[in-house]
Amino acid sequence: MNFLAKIKEIIIDFGAVVYPDYCPSCISYLEKNEDFICTKCKVKLPKTGSHLPDADNKAIIQRFEGRIKLAHTLSYLYFKKGSNVQTLLHKLKYASQPLIGEKLGLWYGTELYEQGFKDVFDIIVPVPLHALRQKKRGYNQSEAFGKGLAQGLDIPQITHAFVRTQYTDTQTKKQRMERADNVENIFQIEDANALKNKHILLVDDVVTTGATLFECVLSLEKAQPKSISIATIAVAG
Ligand SMILES: [Zn+2]
Repeated sequence: MNFLAKIKEIIIDFGAVVYPDYCPSCISYLEKNEDFICTKCKVKLPKTGSHLPDADNKAIIQRFEGRIKLAHTLSYLYFKKGSNVQTLLHKLKYASQPLIGEKLGLWYGTELYEQGFKDVFDIIVPVPLHALRQKKRGYNQSEAFGKGLAQGLDIPQITHAFVRTQYTDTQTKKQRMERADNVENIFQIEDANALKNKHILLVDDVVTTGATLFECVLSLEKAQPKSISIATIAVAG
């Protein structure tokens, strides 16, 4: 991308926050019948189909196999560097566009609902951000995805019961995946009653190493839920 194109993108991104008339993926003007993402980009979304009966879930499942018990491991899209999914996720996280998460969540939640996941989960719990990071960003991108998913699946999202107490990024501490010792120092249960005996759907934006989700699941298990499942917008590799 040359300098002028970059400037144009920055201006459009800024405009999209106030008046989202441009596709956040390819920055082309949206037609009247297009909803948030242009038709071209929408059909190009690389869906994993991990919720379908004949799904090949290996890429997602192998991150957690033998380590934690999950009822369902779901991922909406494949994450590839340089793809439109990378663009969307980057803007969701760093360009003040939580609506990207909400829209993708709603589309995925609707697909899941139609595929028989209507009564599978009781509540949605987003991977929490540290309060300081959330204040800085203005929102939690996983919660934005969870909001749309909750709407599509017609179940509530619970955000107060499970919090993050450590500021540091777990993605840089892959070795924790093996040790998982001081898990309680990173995440904490604030309201166990809201989680107990529930089928929890834990949601995050993207699963790479799986370390963050792994630690969340270990923490959530302490509240004795009936089951824990995972849903992410995208899965890497
Ligand atoms: Zn587009």
